[in-house]
Amino acid sequence: MRSATEPSEISQEELRALQLGKLRAGLTHVLATNAFWRERLNSLSGWDDFERLPLTSKSELLADQTAHPPFGTNLTFPVDRYVRLHQTSGSSGDQPLRWLDTEDSWDWWIRIWAGHVYRAAGVTSTDRLFFAFSFGPFIGFWSAFDGAHRLGALCISGGAMTSEQRVRNMLDIGATVLLSTPTYALRLAEVARQIGVNVSAAGIGKTIHAGEPGASIPATRDAIEAAYSAVSFDHTGMTELGPTGFSCSARDGVHLIESEFIFEVAADGELIATNLGRWGMPLIRYRTGDRVVVSREPCSCGSSFMKVVGGIRGRVDDMFTVRGVNLYPSQVEDIVRRYQEVTGFVIEHRRERLMDEVALVIETPVASFSTERLEADLRQALGVRLDCRVVTPGTLPRSDLKSQRIVRVPPAGG
Ligand SMILES: [Zn+2]
Repeated sequence: MRSATEPSEISQEELRALQLGKLRAGLTHVLATNAFWRERLNSLSGWDDFERLPLTSKSELLADQTAHPPFGTNLTFPVDRYVRLHQTSGSSGDQPLRWLDTEDSWDWWIRIWAGHVYRAAGVTSTDRLFFAFSFGPFIGFWSAFDGAHRLGALCISGGAMTSEQRVRNMLDIGATVLLSTPTYALRLAEVARQIGVNVSAAGIGKTIHAGEPGASIPATRDAIEAAYSAVSFDHTGMTELGPTGFSCSARDGVHLIESEFIFEVAADGELIATNLGRWGMPLIRYRTGDRVVVSREPCSCGSSFMKVVGGIRGRVDDMFTVRGVNLYPSQVEDIVRRYQEVTGFVIEHRRERLMDEVALVIETPVASFSTERLEADLRQALGVRLDCRVVTPGTLPRSDLKSQRIVRVPPAGG
């Protein structure tokens, strides 16, 4: 039973006061010792000052770490105060960004997992959570794992296993919650079918996803829920920023955790975030690169946190253009995932003679699969024609980390 003092149910005025109080207290330490922020910020007394602060971009952080290896200058404490090091995947072609956490900031991560993400999904201490991830240096699964530990649930690492071993392990130990990327959840279901295992009867009641927006894309969520007979939830977060959001029982978007962050939306729809509990390596007015539409309409779950309508549907970097129409991969995914026969896809983008040429490459084990109906559905939904090409299963890369949806092909002869 939730009480009226639940941070997600406080009024706007109380929330703004809470945010400003946390920010001012945190900045007192940061501005005393942190070289990165001392160069950029002065002291802050009210919201007017905050709104005048410069925005921070990932390229600035990368440049700082290149100039001051290995961790850059965004350090509030001596390095020996930090207890965890994680890094981004570098999947967008950048060098990986390294991020350090102190004992306190790691505790902040896992409190958010336990108190917001798992709570909204109804995960409890009686659950058994299977983490279908590699457990490399990426922060997501480590924080999710420790958050579940904090809840008192049973935590099972799926690292260093094949997909088949993960399916069998999950069933053998009676997992009730699966954590994975949306694409990898579908991959595991496909492997289960191939080896004659019925995951829909396995008792996995919930799935929680991150890395891709799939759990907020209706067709993808439907496919995962049908495969596992489960209810699927979305979670958003970034290595350098923290765990920012969760989908609730209404499942029509992602609540942004405003008691632990300040969120702003720029004129072009980019989400800007300031974290309020990671003072060892904080981010102030950080450009997330996510394009969002937000709403403050009351939610049936009771939370007053702002909601990203339909989840984060596009990264600024992922937008592509077909005959003048701007599109995001998630719009294509919402059509493609209605076709159970399609087991994988990428959007191939090439620029020829100043024209954007875009094709959808799909993988299917069904030899007789015809692309005609899919092309017609895409045209209907997107308003432009997108050519489809079929490749044999195993051609496209597979990963238990975030899928690369757009493949940029360099122009022929150059
Ligand atoms: Zn809600």
